[in-house]
Amino acid sequence: MSTTDTSTQTESSKPLNFLEQIIEKDLAEGVVPSVQTRFPPEPNGFLHIGHATSICLNFGLAERFNGQCNLRFDDTNPEKEEQVYVDAIQEDVKWLGFNWNGEVRYASSYFDQFYNWAIHLIKEGKAYVDHQNAGSMAKNRGDFNTPGVETECRKRSVEENLAEFEKMRAGEYEEGQVSLRAKIDLQNSNMNMRDPILYRIRKVPHHQTGDKWCIYPSYDFAHGQEDAIEGVTHSICTLEFQDHRPLYEWFIENLPVPSRPRQYEFARTNINYTVTSKRKLKKLVDENLVVAWDDPRMPTVSGMRRRGYTPYSIRKFSDMVGVSRSDGIADVSMLEHAIRDDLNQNAGRAMAVLNPLKVVITNLPEGEVQEMTAPAHPNKPELGERVLPFTRELYIDRADFSEDNTMSRKKFKRLVTDEYIRLRSTYVIKHEETIKDDSGEIVELRCSYIPGTVGENPPEGVRPRGVIHWVSASEGQEAELRMYDRLFTHAAPDKGDEDFMDHINPESLKVQTAWVEPSLVKAAPESSFQFEREGYFVADRYDHSAEKPVFNLTIGLKDTWAKKA
Ligand code: ATP
Ligand code: MG
Repeated sequence: MSTTDTSTQTESSKPLNFLEQIIEKDLAEGVVPSVQTRFPPEPNGFLHIGHATSICLNFGLAERFNGQCNLRFDDTNPEKEEQVYVDAIQEDVKWLGFNWNGEVRYASSYFDQFYNWAIHLIKEGKAYVDHQNAGSMAKNRGDFNTPGVETECRKRSVEENLAEFEKMRAGEYEEGQVSLRAKIDLQNSNMNMRDPILYRIRKVPHHQTGDKWCIYPSYDFAHGQEDAIEGVTHSICTLEFQDHRPLYEWFIENLPVPSRPRQYEFARTNINYTVTSKRKLKKLVDENLVVAWDDPRMPTVSGMRRRGYTPYSIRKFSDMVGVSRSDGIADVSMLEHAIRDDLNQNAGRAMAVLNPLKVVITNLPEGEVQEMTAPAHPNKPELGERVLPFTRELYIDRADFSEDNTMSRKKFKRLVTDEYIRLRSTYVIKHEETIKDDSGEIVELRCSYIPGTVGENPPEGVRPRGVIHWVSASEGQEAELRMYDRLFTHAAPDKGDEDFMDHINPESLKVQTAWVEPSLVKAAPESSFQFEREGYFVADRYDHSAEKPVFNLTIGLKDTWAKKA
């Protein structure tokens, strides 16, 4: 792998973000003995780049302050959740380079406790079973301008509520018929406090608990209590939960929980030219606009992995985005810059010819193989050398030859009729003859090599225009290249009135072949390379093999979108 392991690197020179400041103060004042965070995904889709920033934040804070971070599945919605997502999420977190504290946790493993706490609230007169359907419940809850209205159910006795709740649990009611609600305040200006739902009936099996339950806790009734059970000190979530904080605190106040976590909110990471919503990403998968959740065009962690993004680049991006209290939109070019920079420093170099034009070296006998060598990376001698067989038949790129030898040397630093060019890491060659087919298309060049020019300046009078890449025709091999580009052509594909489905880049994937040097054929899946003068590519995680090499374009050498914009 060409990735840099930076799991122990911290950016200690940067000023503290607002969460780091809070934690530092809490530790200094002894408010908490140590830091415990958690990353709480719902297993209803694959993780995307937005989640990755939340992972970096939660695990990063724990790392920085010598604390711990839990991985907890917030699995209170069985309809949309699946084991495949549970598995994929764990793999992604590990791949990003983070270790969670102890075993993976599940909200569902606390269902018995939540149930007992619901009974506790009922006994305290702080919860009741409501027989209203969703429509009348919404109506009687009022809105910002209208206070809520108390219904008869709200006045029920504790005994009656206990009996009704037991009937709910026993499956005696149908979905939507009844629910358990907290008895808080129907006049509260914060709608979340107007008797929120604690339990709903859902007659569906759960991926962890099977058929044990037909009632499931709401997010609000579950989340803070999960945090309390796990001893979470700083429960970090995105801004849309700010208005839920009073409720979060109400449960902690009113239940005999074992610890007192606190909730803090930060802004979601939004990125232009990208969609970060599991629901929308699922639609792309379900409607076959991409191959799967881990399609290299997807902004999912596994898609980016397959595309050739490194954990380091994602962590670096997360660092660049930082932690904010107000919503903003990050530029996707920052993410692209992070991976380009990492690969420039760490990816091996190799040669691949994307539009091959055959060159016959007339003064090299057929069957002769001269072994040239080149460093795997120009600045990393420790990565060793690769062997480049120089043979009579080679390929260069069509774009690297022109019959027009009147162009200035400055303007065209490639091969032209009757002139010289250096082939990367081997000889200077001289153009002698151009062979065309009946339609006038160039099919072959005949050239000769200039002995003594490997690693040496050419003799007087021999002036190569530049250096171009090449691959031996007989020793190289054909490879499939999957040329990926941004998935959306619109900078804000799902903002305002835009429908992201209307903005899919029709050219987000083009498949072509290339002729690649032998070292690439031997490459392990997931190893990254700079194909000289072409871009950064990764050997496909699943499809690449020595028999059929497959490389994915991770990112071009330069930002071509900056020019288009
Ligand atoms: P989505 O809308 O994509 O389904 P979600 O917030 O519903 O996202 P969860 O699985 O509930 O997805 O999220 C797990 C954690 O990741 C939560 O703490 C959530 O706040 C955080 N998170 C999700 N999306 C982003 C984002 N774009 N930026 C930062 N954090 C995010
Ligand atoms: Mg969610």
